[in-house]
Amino acid sequence: MDISRSEEIFAHARQLVPGGVNSPVRAFSSVGGTPRFIERASGPFLYDVDGNEYVDLICSWGPMLLGHAHSEVIHAVGAAVAHGTSFGAPTEVEAKLAEAIIERTPVDQVRMVNSGTEATMTVIRLARGITGRDLIVKFAGCYHGHVDSLLVAAGSGVATLHGGEPSSPGVTAGTTADTLVVDYNDRAGLEAVFAEHGDRIAAVMAEASPGNMGVVPPSVVDGENFNAFCKRVCHAHGALFISDEVMTGFRVTRSGQFGLDGVEPDLMTFGKVMGGGFPAAAFGGRAEYMAHLSPVGGVYQAGTLAGNPVATTAGLKTLQLADDAVYERVDRAAEIVRGETGRALEEAGVPHVINSNGSMFSVFFTDQPVTDFASAQTTDTKRYAAFFHAMLDAGVHLPPSAFETWFCSSTHHDSVLDRITSALPAAARAAAAV
Ligand code: PMP
Repeated sequence: MDISRSEEIFAHARQLVPGGVNSPVRAFSSVGGTPRFIERASGPFLYDVDGNEYVDLICSWGPMLLGHAHSEVIHAVGAAVAHGTSFGAPTEVEAKLAEAIIERTPVDQVRMVNSGTEATMTVIRLARGITGRDLIVKFAGCYHGHVDSLLVAAGSGVATLHGGEPSSPGVTAGTTADTLVVDYNDRAGLEAVFAEHGDRIAAVMAEASPGNMGVVPPSVVDGENFNAFCKRVCHAHGALFISDEVMTGFRVTRSGQFGLDGVEPDLMTFGKVMGGGFPAAAFGGRAEYMAHLSPVGGVYQAGTLAGNPVATTAGLKTLQLADDAVYERVDRAAEIVRGETGRALEEAGVPHVINSNGSMFSVFFTDQPVTDFASAQTTDTKRYAAFFHAMLDAGVHLPPSAFETWFCSSTHHDSVLDRITSALPAAARAAAAV
């Protein structure tokens, strides 16, 4: 495979941008090698600057539920662009996107922002404003964007780069002093934190079903799902339960994780799919909570490009097109890739665990159950790197990190899945050889 143009551009970009990338995981730091510079994408395929075609199992880290460059989304975006790209004044399409989100999820109102990070940053400010309390509880391995106070035991790129260090340089001890960290799925741990600090805790924030330490679904104990447990403990102490559905929202079902477990959080965050591939995110909750937000209430938040007409048009069209058939296709594609990957690894004798939550799944190269960040980190990252590169050489682009979710789209049809299936045995053997 010729990747000389990617190599050239990467070398040049590294002079201009730290690591040559605008988001760390893209740099291939943990798997090594040269990131492919992408020129265009269509349906389930990415095309790099050397003209190589890859089956895409990143899907822009979640957003591309309908595949790349869906004709109706592109058409709607083109029409929106022709009308002007930003007004700094309200538009009807923002209200329509808000309505589409509210119709699918248990929130009465939403506020739109530009990234998941902004959504989580603001929602914790709101929770503190509502409760008059300072402390936030998060779970180890849950990533909520690069908000200072949430960059504690965060997963995703942070897990890859810092090997699970509790925070990033530049995050002050004062900031993280108001963040308490509990292991994911650790019920006794959460109760213990509330027993000690209960009257000072504003909120517990959880990924609705974590995907940033790889996929680690909420456990079910005596019929109670971990999200339901968190909410119950929060309410017993006057705290709010915040579900971060940036990754799961409108992806694992039409109603996100809420569509799977039915737990109604007090506040929620959304992103990825709802932006249709553009920078857009949102947070929402019950009307009485959202009334604390400016200009109605005193909790301040704003954004020059928030609710941008092009981004909201793309998001609205994406949600409108995501009908039952889309979710069925995505679920089926995920099930097949999961199954075939497991089979290939089994045949090659590679110890592995595949966790899934709806159509989100990931492969851990470990022989023990993965239920939290510590067990996720038993994955053999060298083995993943070998597997990743063998797949890439065969034209299948997996996420370039062992701690990420694999994503399919509704355009991952059988012929596309066949290409993945035929690439798997050699990749599994490459993993076995490590
Ligand atoms: N929350 C979750 C659950 C996420 O997965 C992410 C991004 N991977 C974020 C928040 C941050 O979103 P963004 O990258 O748009 O800032």
